Amino acid sequence: MSRSVLVTGGNRGIGLAIARAFADAGDNVAITYRSGEPPAGFLAVKCDITDPEQVEQAYKEIEEKQGAVEVLVANAGVTRDQLLLRMSEEDFTSVVETNLTGTFRVVKRASKAMLRARKGRIVLISSVVGLLGSAGQANYAASKAGLVGFGRSLARELGSRNITVNVVAPGFVDTDMTRVLSDEQRESITKQIPLARYAQPEEIAASVRFLASDEAAYITGAVIPVDGGLGMGH
Ligand code: NDP
Repeated sequence: MSRSVLVTGGNRGIGLAIARAFADAGDNVAITYRSGEPPAGFLAVKCDITDPEQVEQAYKEIEEKQGAVEVLVANAGVTRDQLLLRMSEEDFTSVVETNLTGTFRVVKRASKAMLRARKGRIVLISSVVGLLGSAGQANYAASKAGLVGFGRSLARELGSRNITVNVVAPGFVDTDMTRVLSDEQRESITKQIPLARYAQPEEIAASVRFLASDEAAYITGAVIPVDGGLGMGH
């Protein structure tokens, strides 16, 4: 049976690979985008997750055209890297506002219908950096670590209603986000990864789709690393 899926930030990068994985499996997939032309094959809704009004409008449109969201993948995220002493209030709050508060917003809205339906799947896209820390990314790491506490709290809160909440923590993935790194940075990162390479977005998508599948019905509150071994033990 095809389900109603929403992937935030599903217009490119990891989000697009996740959206494609669900669509290929026969689900109806909505994606959010902020500007430009969204990719074809999905219900594309314009939505900046930092704006509560746009989030509400996006859900209304999805509910009307595709039905209430049964699987939510909160993937949208940003970086604004800077060493602590140079990190402005705006650098910090804007990253937390998107990655953590924005996720709170879309999850809260999705949970309404899931609670009514007494079923649902929520997957949050965190990062290995949230667990390991990363010099120059205190804002980003804090927001991604925050998703773990957020997700695990919801796993406890929503579990009795047959709603699972899991976190995927990717390592370094070949997308626009990491293409800004210099060759030198890439090389030094790759040296620390046991599998000695970056991930492809599809490799993250596979684990997300698994967590939303029937086979994963008894998995909740988990943090699944998909990081080539980079964060082992954390
Ligand atoms: P990209 O930079 O390629 O894409 C980011 C996505 O998030 C875009 O779709 C973007 O939309 C969307 N987005 C950003 N801000 C907002 C916002 N305010 N409202 C709505 N959408 C927004 O990143 P990746 O695909 O690499 O990353 C996807 C997720 O995976 C992020 O949460 C990231 O932190 C996480 N991640 C990435 C890793 C990597 O190595 N690439 C590693 C670990 C985690 P738009 O096109 O409109 O800008």
